[in-house]
Amino acid sequence: MTADFTFNKNSKVGRETREFFQEFLKIDTTNPPGNEINKALFLQKKFDKEGINSEIIESDKNRGNFILKIRGTSENAPSLLLLSHLDVVPARPDEWKYPPFSGHFDGKFIWGRGAIDCANITISESMGLIQALRDGFKPKGDIILAATADEELGGKFGVMWLLKNYPEKIKADFVLNEGIGVKLPIGKKPQYLIQHAEKGTFWTRISYKGIPAHASVPDLGDNSILKITEIIMKIQKYKVPPKITPAFMDTIKNIKFNWFAKKLLGNKHTIGLALFLLKHWMPELASIIKAITRMTIAPTMLNAGSKENIIPEKTDLVLDIRTLPGQDRKYLNFHLKKALGVNLFEKIIFKPILDEPGTRTPPGDFLYQKIAEIMDEIDPGAKLVPLLVPGNSDSKDFRYIGIPVYGFSPMQEDPEMPIQEALTLAHGINERISEKNLLLATEFVYRLVKKF
Ligand SMILES: [Zn+2]
Repeated sequence: MTADFTFNKNSKVGRETREFFQEFLKIDTTNPPGNEINKALFLQKKFDKEGINSEIIESDKNRGNFILKIRGTSENAPSLLLLSHLDVVPARPDEWKYPPFSGHFDGKFIWGRGAIDCANITISESMGLIQALRDGFKPKGDIILAATADEELGGKFGVMWLLKNYPEKIKADFVLNEGIGVKLPIGKKPQYLIQHAEKGTFWTRISYKGIPAHASVPDLGDNSILKITEIIMKIQKYKVPPKITPAFMDTIKNIKFNWFAKKLLGNKHTIGLALFLLKHWMPELASIIKAITRMTIAPTMLNAGSKENIIPEKTDLVLDIRTLPGQDRKYLNFHLKKALGVNLFEKIIFKPILDEPGTRTPPGDFLYQKIAEIMDEIDPGAKLVPLLVPGNSDSKDFRYIGIPVYGFSPMQEDPEMPIQEALTLAHGINERISEKNLLLATEFVYRLVKKF
């Protein structure tokens, strides 16, 4: 099958892609501080050699955003943005088998921080586009390629900043971004997950103010640590009701899976039973499905106390609250009040830290269809399965302004690495991608670009 691919390990452009990727991984863009400019300049050099103009826009010193636009031949044809980010999360070299900025190739895998999040996307999108243009391809609609800064810390110096300051440079009718693309290890026909929706993030600080006293006579004070502990226990015990959203039903409707399990999962009255049963044989999957069918509340930071012998007056607790698309701060306040009881709820000081509602692109539009067509070409019979993911990415900022976004890069299981392990590598130790998957994703972009 892969012999017909333009990008395969024996083709010249296949080798070029892998080597370009290895060099790219050597550039350290750990965020903070980012220094994405170094990767941006590296990309620019490559495109310069191809005679393709690009620009680097700095949102702050060394926070480079790499952008180029290929003008389409027709005014009315749909335009496409190929999006990725240049920054990576920190890595501790002593924990890794090969240094995180080595770009080491062991004959099967290429190792390095960013190998699957998301240097692979940047390189697939760049090389797929480059090869299409080398073939003499002229797109009907505009094609934009943007590799931006700061995704890992929220995009304030990347996508958010660009949409605010230079929207005309990156806005398009459709966006292809990082996300998912895993081929599911179930069913007879190939099925690939595609990220079409993301949960919302509502970080919240809650503080309790008690009364300080000498700790030798504790009853004279009102100990804020004890009150916050009570709050944590109440949150832990509270059962947020499940909600079967359109985003979740997109998965249930499209996935080929045991019909009875689908029936149980797709109903708010029986999903509890389904998860109870699933937990026994696939605990990780049960946890993920649980998270994408309800709001979750996780205590993540705690701050209290100033001295060994003082009853602490004030304790701060940070909650990482993740909501489903359609749920807002009003919704989460309603449930916090219910969890804590009115009395306790009213004694607490709430401070929102971040409000980012969940998003969904209804699947089935032009880009979605093109992705489906190409996957059917690449892996005959393949179907897409839209997925709401528990986290969020730069995709949300485009969805907020009504632009459809899919997070997709095809990835198949490698015989040397179970898919469960592959899923832990983003932000993890020994991050790596197989040469085969890097080239598969590049082949996909190469073919997608030609549909525009
Ligand atoms: Zn990423």
